[in-house]
Parts: sequence; structure tokens; C-alpha cells
Amino acid sequence: MDMSTSFPPPAVETSRGQALGGVVLAGLSKRYADGTVAVDDVDLHIEPGSYCCLLGPSGCGKTTMLRMVAGHETPSGGAIQIDGKNVIGRSPRQRGTAMMFQNYALFPHLSVRDNVAFSLRVRGMAKPERLREADRVIEQVQLTALASRLPGQLSGGQQQRVALARAIVMKPTVLLLDEPLSALDEFLRLQMRGELRSMQRELGITFVHVTHTQLEAIAVADQVVVMDKGRIAQSASPQQIYAQPSTEYVAAFIGGQNVLRGQVTGLTAGSVTLQGARGASFVLPRDAATQALGQTVAFSVRRDRMAVGADDEALALAPNTLRGRVLELEYQGIYMKVSLATDDPDAPGCVAYVEERAFFKDPVSVGQRVRCRWAADEARALSTAA
Ligand code: ATP
Repeated sequence: MDMSTSFPPPAVETSRGQALGGVVLAGLSKRYADGTVAVDDVDLHIEPGSYCCLLGPSGCGKTTMLRMVAGHETPSGGAIQIDGKNVIGRSPRQRGTAMMFQNYALFPHLSVRDNVAFSLRVRGMAKPERLREADRVIEQVQLTALASRLPGQLSGGQQQRVALARAIVMKPTVLLLDEPLSALDEFLRLQMRGELRSMQRELGITFVHVTHTQLEAIAVADQVVVMDKGRIAQSASPQQIYAQPSTEYVAAFIGGQNVLRGQVTGLTAGSVTLQGARGASFVLPRDAATQALGQTVAFSVRRDRMAVGADDEALALAPNTLRGRVLELEYQGIYMKVSLATDDPDAPGCVAYVEERAFFKDPVSVGQRVRCRWAADEARALSTAA
């Protein structure tokens, strides 16, 4: 098993005691009839009661993976366990899963209360009992005052809450959410993602949330699973994914990073020295990956950990610096985004986020020759293979 997929997120304290909904995928694959391999031999461990985000570009297989966990798609190979039980071949109800869909899939002719109670009716629950259950959940999502309305009489955010109520009324141990915020405007999206996170903590069940939005995943998840062409590129906490992307793909996809490279010219127990193009030299912490003299190593430096200052061409280039020219300045309030055309053909475009006060204390201007620099321990070696 790839070690990057066995990351255990921290146990989540819930208001309801023991957390439920641990999911384990082992060698899970899906090959469609036309030969498309949507999910390719995936191993993944999701802790009970945690919030997991499956993140990746369109077509990387996240929805297919979610649908296989939900029981809406049959795997071509591998195993799925929920709370230690093999669930392949079982219905969503037997698995304890419920799905919340992208478009909410509400019945337009049914009231909020009847939409929420609908699945309980299908299950054969008596009317007074199912309405009582529906009202309890409607209260949980703060829609009691609107329980008699039709979906068409609700805002996007309210419809999203009805969809959530409809999923949780089934008392799932794993709630699967397929792009749950994509239909909302920016303001509501930020509000609702906070509400989803609070609801997950309150219910104490596992949420598996599919998104292609990096910041959404980082904001809500305990565990972020970055996918690439049906495989897991990295599975880790949001902090690790952001600060220590393991591959060039993850660094580029998560954003906020500059990716540079050089050839290994020196190795010590704790550090690696690289020779960049045009004579630049870079020093970075040595990690567990094999690094040999002469090997080309890619590494990332966070945009907010790069400093930019005026350059003196007469001075020799110190380690962990690059010369370049300021292409663009964009004021972002708390920082200035400084886009550079560097002299290094391996990293022609670098971006630095310079904290506002630091920038205006010693400003640079568009077109100016500058030097960007960073501390050796801000650089992280990347593996090129996904
Ligand atoms: P998106 O963000 O666009 O929804 P995704 O990451 O969720 O993308 P999937 O919907 O899982 O991706 O699709 C993964 C791959 O499988 C894609 O190449 C897609 O075209 C293919 N695929 C999905 N469903 C089918 C199907 N029923 N038959 C054949 N190929 C399919």
C-alpha cells in the first residue's frame, strides 16, 4: 500500500460519543464498458467520524469513487469496507450510506417536510412517525419556519439544507456529498461550507465530500485526498497537503507554490545542494526519498515564503535566490502578489505573496530587476511520479 494513502486523520471528538463510518478501500478499481479506467487500484483509509474531501480536476475519478462507496456503481475490482464490514453487493441502506447530490434532486411538487419524509415513506414508516422524524431533522438544519414551502419557494442555500436534511434523515454513518456547494454563489458557498462542517461534527458521522475546489477542501476537511487520473496522488491533512505537497502534480494543483528544480551537487545527512540553471544554487532539507549526485530534483517553495527585493547584479548570487524582473503587481489587501519573470529557464514564472507592510516598507515596481529569496527550510523536495 502506498504510504501516502494510509494517513490517519486525528480522531474527531463528537457530541454523540463513539464515531461511526470508518471507510477502507483496498485495490478499488472501476473500468467502464468502453474501457475507460475511472478508478485505478486505489487504497484509502478514512477514519470514522472524520471529514474527508476527494479533490481533483474534472475526470480524475472522484465521483466514480464516491458512487462506488454509495453503492450506486459496481466496482470492477477491489474491496470496500464500512466499519469493518465488506459492503460490496449491499444496498445503500444496508451499508449505512446516504448521498447528497450536486443538483439536490428535490421533488418540486412536494413540500420541504414531504421531501424530507419521502425516503422514510419508501421504507414503510408510518405517517405520524415519519413526519415527526422529518420535523426533527428540519429543525436541525434550521428550516422549521419553511417546512410547508415547495422547493421553488426556497433560496439556493435553503434548498441545499433540505437536501442535507433528506440525506441525514436516513441516519447514515457515511454521508456522501457530490459537489454539494457548486450551485451556490460565492457568499453562500462560504457560509454553507461552514454549516456542513458543523453538521458533520454534531452528527459524529463520516462525510466524504467531492470537490474540484482546492480552498473548499482545505477549509472543511480533516483529510484531503488529491486524485490524478483515477489514482491517489496524496492523502493527508489539509496542512500537510498545502505545506508539504508530495509531488509536482499536487503542488501545482493545490496552488500557492513555486516549483523549481536543479541537479544534485552535494549531499549531507540533513541537506541537499542543487545546481540550478544559470549558476543558481539551492539548498533544501534532505528527506526520505533517494537523492543521488547528478539526479535532477524538483522542489516547491510556498509563495508566501518568498521575499522579493531590489537586486544588485554586481553581487554574487547567494544560495536560495533567483534573479528576475517584476512582471506584475496585484494588491490583495493583506499581501501584494508579485509575479516575476526569472532568469531561470526551469522556473520562468515565479510568484511571491509579500505581506502588505513588508512590501510597502521596501517596495519594488513593475519592470524592476529584483532578487527573490527564501530560507532553506522552506523548500520541499517533490517526487515527480504521481
Ligand atoms: P467531474 O469533476 O467532472 O465530475 P470526476 O473526477 O468526478 O469528474 P468521474 O465522473 O468519476 O470524474 O469520471 C472519471 C472518468 O470516467 C472520466 O474519464 C469519465 O469520462 C469516465 N466515465 C464516467 N462515467 C462513465 C460511464 N458511465 N461510462 C464510461 N466512462 C465514464
